[in-house]
This record gives sequence, structure tokens and C-alpha cells, in this order.
Amino acid sequence: MKLLFALAGNQNSGKTTLFNRLTGSNQHVGNFPGVTVEKKEGQVKKHPEASVVDLPGIYSLSPYTSEEIVTRDFVLKEHPNGIINIVDATNIERNLYLSLQLIELGIPMVIALNMMDEVRASGNSIDIAKLSDELGVPVVPISAGKNEGIDELIEVAIRTASQGKKPLKYDFCDGEVHKAIHAIAHIIVDQAKEAGIPLRFAATKLVEGDEPTQELLKLDEDQQHIIEHIIEDMQNELGTDREAALADMRYTFIERVCGGCVTKHQETREQVRSEKIDKILTSKYWGIPIFLGIMLLIFYLTFTLLGAPLQELMDKGITALTDLTAKGMAYVGISDWLQSLVIDGIFAGVGSVLSFLPIIVLLFFFLSLLEDSGYMARVAFVMDKLLRKIGLSGRSFVPMLIGFGCSVPAIMSARTLSSERDRKMTILLTPFMSCSAKLPIYGMIIMAFFPHHRALIMMSVYVIGILVAILSGLLLKSTVFKGNPIPFVMELPAYRIPSPRSVLMLMWEKAKDFLRKAFTIIFVATIVIWFLQSFDIRLNMVADSSQSILASIGSLIAPLFVPLGFADWRASTALLTGITAKESVVSTLTILTGASTDAQLSQVLATIFTPLSAYSFLVFTVLYMPCVAAFAASKRELGSWKGAIFTALYQTGAAYVMALVVYQIGRLIV
Ligand code: GDP
Ligand code: MG
Repeated sequence: MKLLFALAGNQNSGKTTLFNRLTGSNQHVGNFPGVTVEKKEGQVKKHPEASVVDLPGIYSLSPYTSEEIVTRDFVLKEHPNGIINIVDATNIERNLYLSLQLIELGIPMVIALNMMDEVRASGNSIDIAKLSDELGVPVVPISAGKNEGIDELIEVAIRTASQGKKPLKYDFCDGEVHKAIHAIAHIIVDQAKEAGIPLRFAATKLVEGDEPTQELLKLDEDQQHIIEHIIEDMQNELGTDREAALADMRYTFIERVCGGCVTKHQETREQVRSEKIDKILTSKYWGIPIFLGIMLLIFYLTFTLLGAPLQELMDKGITALTDLTAKGMAYVGISDWLQSLVIDGIFAGVGSVLSFLPIIVLLFFFLSLLEDSGYMARVAFVMDKLLRKIGLSGRSFVPMLIGFGCSVPAIMSARTLSSERDRKMTILLTPFMSCSAKLPIYGMIIMAFFPHHRALIMMSVYVIGILVAILSGLLLKSTVFKGNPIPFVMELPAYRIPSPRSVLMLMWEKAKDFLRKAFTIIFVATIVIWFLQSFDIRLNMVADSSQSILASIGSLIAPLFVPLGFADWRASTALLTGITAKESVVSTLTILTGASTDAQLSQVLATIFTPLSAYSFLVFTVLYMPCVAAFAASKRELGSWKGAIFTALYQTGAAYVMALVVYQIGRLIV
């Protein structure tokens, strides 16, 4: 018999860590709410009959956010055989709030009481047997992080699910709410069965005023009338509204249970430590300056101190390999065009991009340290006020931050925003956060024109992206996206020492992504570009690439960029190919200039750009429409071509205007 388990729990309770333990897979774990957006399925190690699905973190089963909807739809429609509800034992009261709702689904359930290592370390304890008794479901203490209790958990889960043992208790309180739930349950027995919704869950949701449930049940008018009447009575009797009444019932119950089962002498060590650190890091005056300082330090380490020498080393290696290959091919007497394809096309194109591997891996190393330690969550908290001013909520900070890595996952993570307005605006603005694929472009221009101001130019490029996002936010807030951002509530996770495994995993993933891209998209693009620049329209090989097909295409759009200071057809062509992947800007320019070393490339670039027009080119590349992969992602998330095209046009328009301003003002000064 096949068993399917849903892994459900609050954000940051350790679901993904447990999922990885159970399945042996390597999903990204972050000490940051909102990391898991999509559900992921995996097979349980040593138990081929069982598989688990890692669901996004949620606090309740009300359909307010898309994570809640994903989880709820999964449980209601896919009918898992069991639920593994992961509960953060250091935060047990709040976590059990979700457990009580999961219990109502009437599906065999096990509570995995996680983070027991922290509970024990702080001298607290939890009476597991009693807790299990009170809740009517098995409770297994575990530590996903330390790999304790996992075997027992899966055994209990499999036993419970294969025997179809449903939770033993559904009534958590008596009194008015209880009466109302029972009365309503009585009325909707048939409809709930028809709609395939657990009766008890349906009744509770009706008391809460949950709209999707009301629609699914297809109640007739009489029934609706009676139900509203019951609820009205309940509200009058209690003097609170329906949602508050239910929340109150659940919390009263939780308080009583925890009072009896949890011995809490003190806050956990981690909590005490976190509070102390937070006094400084999230303080009103120091929060943002500290964040900027940390980012500047990271840029300095990544681009100057550690990155630059590593990149040079990488470049030397690639050049040596290129020379060797060229000599070998010449020696064997391989035909000229093939030599040109391999050396001037592939090696030059892919090689120019590849040398940026160390920088990208380094940047992600630092970012993952910030994220895993729990610091990024604080930054989101501090940023909320600022973001609010430009019409976004602090929740948009997560996608923005991921955007510094890559716009694709960033745009996807905007899904976690519950308001449509916030989501659209975030998708539009996120690509202004300079993604890591653009690093090679900055590197190339800096090397040729600003070798003595690496960190400064780098920081300025990032700042321009952020500034344009802010200006756009202000503009859009009062035009296209009127309205208010949703309030931002986020649990601040405790500070933790980042786990080396998780940091290494992330670096490896990023390196793999980068290499894969270099040898697929960019590889193909370099071949196409080599072809287009080596032949003319009649397919004769040209001696000078200015006679080539590519030159004709590039010259067509080149005049557009005259006001921005770079009218050379090679620059405009590079911008075009940059839409396939941003690294292509570099590989294209390398191929088109025929440079075989970085020094040569710098020399030729100096004939195409002046320092000012090179900077204007940089500004344009930071801001203009993202690559096709990101464009496709925004089409998917916005759900329409119209939205995606508007977004791309807006971004390209902003790029044009900003580069124009930079170049024209610069001309007056320089
Ligand atoms: P999710 O958001 O529920 O998927 O949670 P994650 O699996 O991403 O974990 C959140 C954080 O809790 C990470 O920093 C983990 O390293 C940490 N964590 C997970 N399980 C444990 C545990 O058993 N003990 C401790 N001390 N930390 C844990
Ligand atoms: Mg997760």
C-alpha cells in the first residue's frame, strides 16, 4: 500500500530540514520565513511505500495567503493518507494553533515536536505522553537539525496512517462556539459529504465565515439562513465576532494544555541571546546603517579582496587552455573556420563568462550566511517602514533580496504576498535589484575603464537599481497601483549558527546553475553569434565582422542609442543578445571585438566607449528588461502577456531614461 504524507507546519518550524532528513534530498533550508513556496514531494528513505510532500509554512488554514491555499488545497483535494504536523517546541503555543485546525480535517495525524534539542538545552521540558493524550494524536519528540527521533517519527506516522487512525478528539472546548459548531455540522452533513470536505472542518470554517467553504458546500437558502442565525446568536451571547470567538476557543484550549504539559523555567538560550542581539540590530537608528555597512563589507570582500585575485587566476587558466587548444588545432591542421568557431566563438564567449564563477559563488556564500543566521529576517523587519513609504510592505523585501541573486526565483517568491497589488508591484520592481548574471558585465566594464574604483562603481550600480525601484514605487503608488500595502507581520526567527552543510549546498547549487547556464544557453548563443558575425547575408565568410549579418542587424537599432553615448553596433548587439541571458552581453562583446585576453578586450572596448558612455551602458544594463527566463517567470506569475510586456517595456523605458540622464548630465560635467 502506498502512503502519502503531507508535511505541514508554521513557517520556520523546520519542515524542510525534516523533509531533507526523511527523503535524503537537498532542498534549500533557510532561517527565513517564506523560503519554501512550492510544494515538493520525495520518497522516504528505507520506506519505499511512503512519500512526503513539503508544504509551505502557514499559521492557519484560512485562505488568506497563497501558501495557505496551496496547503489547504493539497490536504483537501489530494487526500493524503496522513499529516505530519511539525511543531516548533520552543514556540509551542503559537504552533499548536495550526495543529488544532489540522486535527479537524479528520486525517490520521502525527505531531513531530521539533527543536527538542533547544528545549532541553535551556532546561525546559515537555510531558509528551500527556500532550498526546490531550490532543488525541500521537506526538513524537524530534530534532530535525540534530537528526534525532526521525526513525521513530516515520514508524509512528506509517503505523497511524496505514491503520487509518484518525485523531481521537475534535472538541476542544465547550460553550457557545462548541454549540454553534455542532448545530451547523448537523445541518450540513449531506453537503459536506457531497463536496468531499471533512464535516467538522466545514462546520468550523462556516463559523469563521470562510468564503471558499461556503461556495463549495452549495447550501440552499434555508440552510444559509439558519446557519447565519446560529452564528448571530453565538456572537450575541459571547459579545465578540465569529473569527475572534474561534481563535479565542483555540487559544484557551492551548493555554490549558500547555499549562499542564510544558515546564518552562526560562526562555531558551537562543531566545535570550536573540533578544540581546536584536536590541542593536533592529534598533531604530542603527538598523539600516549596520545593514548598509555589512553589505559594503560583503561587496568589498567579494569583488575586491577575495574575488579579484580568484577571478584573475581563473582567467589565466582559461587563457592557457585556449592557447593550448589553438596550438593543438593549428598543429593538426584543422580547417580555419572550425578553428575560428572553437577559439573565437566558444572559448572566447563561454570563457569570458566562466571566469566570473568565483565571484558568484563568493557572493552567495556571504548572502547565505546572512540568511541562515536569521539576520535577513531582521533586515526585512527594519526595512518595512521604508518599503511602506514607496507603497510596498516589508514582505516584498524577501523577493527583492532574492533578486540580487536571480530574478527568476525572486519573481516566483512574490507569490507569498497575499495582496494582488503588492504582488504585481513586487514583480515589476524586483528585476531592478541587480542580479548576479550581470556581474560579468560590470566586471568587464570596470576592468576596462575603472580599474581603480572597483567596489565604488559596483556599489553605485546596485544603488542605482535600488533608487530606480524606489522612484518607480513612488510613481506607481500614485498611478497604476493605488491602494495600501498589506500590514507586515513576521515572526523573527531565533539567531542560529548557519549550518555549514546548508551553506555549502547553496554555494554548490549556485555554481551548478551558473555552469549549466554557461554550457547551455550561453554556449549556444556564442555559436549563433559567431555564425552571424562571421558570415554575410550571402553566407560568404567575411574578413571584417562589420560586413556580417550581425552588423546589419545591430546597425539597425544602433542609432537608438546615440543619445545614450554608445552608437557602436557591437554594443547594441550585445544588449540584444543579453536578453537571452545577461552574461551574453560579455560573451558577445568578446566575440565581436575578437579579443583573446582580458587586456585585449579592455583595449578594444576603449575604442567603442568613453568612460562616460561606458558608465551609461552600465546603467542601461542594470535596469533594462530581464532575461527571457525572468520574463517568462513574470508572465507566469502575472498570469498575462499584457502584464509581462508592460513590465518589460517599463523596465526598458526606465533604463533608457536613466542612461540618457547619466550621459547627458555627465557630458556637461566632464
Ligand atoms: P521551514 O521554514 O519550516 O521549512 O524550516 P527550515 O527547515 O528551513 O528550518 C528553519 C531553521 O530552523 C533553520 O535555520 C534550521 O537549521 C533550524 N532547525 C531545523 N530543525 C532544527 C532542530 O531540530 N533544532 C535546531 N536547533 N534548529 C533546527
Ligand atoms: Mg521550508
